[in-house]
Amino acid sequence: MSPESFPATRVAALSRLTQFAPRAGQAYASGRNTDPGPDQPSAVSKLSPYVRYRLITEQEVIGATLGQHSLPAAEKYVQEVLWRTYWKGWLEMRPSVWMQFLQERDRQRDSFPNARAIRSAEAGETGIEGFDDWARELVETGYLHNHARMWFASIWIFTLRLPWALGADFFLRHLVDADAASNTLSWRWVAGLQTAGKTYLATGDNIARFTNGRFAPKGLATIATMPRDVATPELCPLPQAVLFDAHKPTYLLVTPDDLNPESVFGAPAKISGASILFDPETLWGDNARAFVATTINDASERVGNVFKCPTTVLDTLDAATLITQARAAGAEQIVTSYAPVGPVADALARVAPILASEGVPLIQVRRAWDENFWPLATKGFFPFKEKIPKILQEMGLSR
Ligand SMILES: Cc1cc2nc3c(=O)[nH]c(=O)nc-3n(C[C@H](O)[C@H](O)[C@H](O)COP(=O)(O)OP(=O)(O)OC[C@H]3O[C@@H](n4cnc5c(N)ncnc54)[C@H](O)[C@@H]3O)c2cc1C
Repeated sequence: MSPESFPATRVAALSRLTQFAPRAGQAYASGRNTDPGPDQPSAVSKLSPYVRYRLITEQEVIGATLGQHSLPAAEKYVQEVLWRTYWKGWLEMRPSVWMQFLQERDRQRDSFPNARAIRSAEAGETGIEGFDDWARELVETGYLHNHARMWFASIWIFTLRLPWALGADFFLRHLVDADAASNTLSWRWVAGLQTAGKTYLATGDNIARFTNGRFAPKGLATIATMPRDVATPELCPLPQAVLFDAHKPTYLLVTPDDLNPESVFGAPAKISGASILFDPETLWGDNARAFVATTINDASERVGNVFKCPTTVLDTLDAATLITQARAAGAEQIVTSYAPVGPVADALARVAPILASEGVPLIQVRRAWDENFWPLATKGFFPFKEKIPKILQEMGLSR
């Protein structure tokens, strides 16, 4: 498998979903923990890059799944998809955890004394069976099975005793689906920082069992020593949902955090022009950049067709350029899909006050999906998942 294994169009995403949906029931539940290795048939969907950039949405994935299975039959798959939603909602209400991660990463980069150990772990030269293979697989393909991500993170933290934030950074720099919430909070979860005192310790037996015997590493840590961390911050409320006046002339900004704006801003929105942002600074590594670079043409074509408007590509988010483009299109406001905590949200926060002061406000619109699920991510995943069936029913996705 290589990064090219993820053809970066919405049509390719929908086709993968159609092929996978019949297997989202029992076949997924019983086979999902096994990582048979790259290029081998596996029970998982490999939809994450598409969902991460919202070429297809969680709602579409669960809709297609429940079109073929009852909720009890596809419960496991539905819950996995909702882990992504849960992590996003959790981080959205504790944005300082993202800032803490960035600070910790920078601190460790500058001060961790054993830089050679980091280099050897990233190059897959530790001599630990499996771990070394996953390090190389990640760099070459931009993808790792979920179980391999858990084993890798656990060995990085507890056996090699390397800083968790540098491991999370290594993932971000190579994953095609690199994501602020899923990555940071999953690394924190393995380290025991996310669920107080609960660590994830990989064992040789578990690895041998779920890699079909491909790897059986020896000498893994048997005790999980938790890294030092600052206390988890108090929950802060989600930013207020904003409605936009669909009858005003509007300019559309599309970002890599949501490449499916046609399902957010449908009729009667009067979109008179659109910019598609492809700023490499808002993405982490070459695998993610290569994927998103290809999706830009796809998004641009779809937006042009759906809204019957001219589109341009922006290689950096610059307020002056955006204002000029919006005014040239006769727009009184700029709309964009709400960007969750991460580099796109940071970039939007920088330009928003300038746009507002020039009288072309930037309005971030949240999807109904996020609006319904994110506020429920106040505690752990268990209480969150209890509420899933009711919300899916209210949204007309399950009976
Ligand atoms: C240490 C670590 C780091 C991770 N970093 C990322 C990351 O940067 N970006 C990312 O998208 N996912 C991340 N994950 C979550 C998960 O591993 C991937 O989403 C999943 O492996 C993608 O493969 P798939 O689409 O074949 O998954 P499937 O098993 O087919 O799952 C279906 C969908 O459910 C969602 N999903 C499944 N498992 C998880 C999970 N544990 N957390 C959140 N969402 C999940 C994904 O959208 C996925 O596409 C990480 C997990 C761990 C343990």
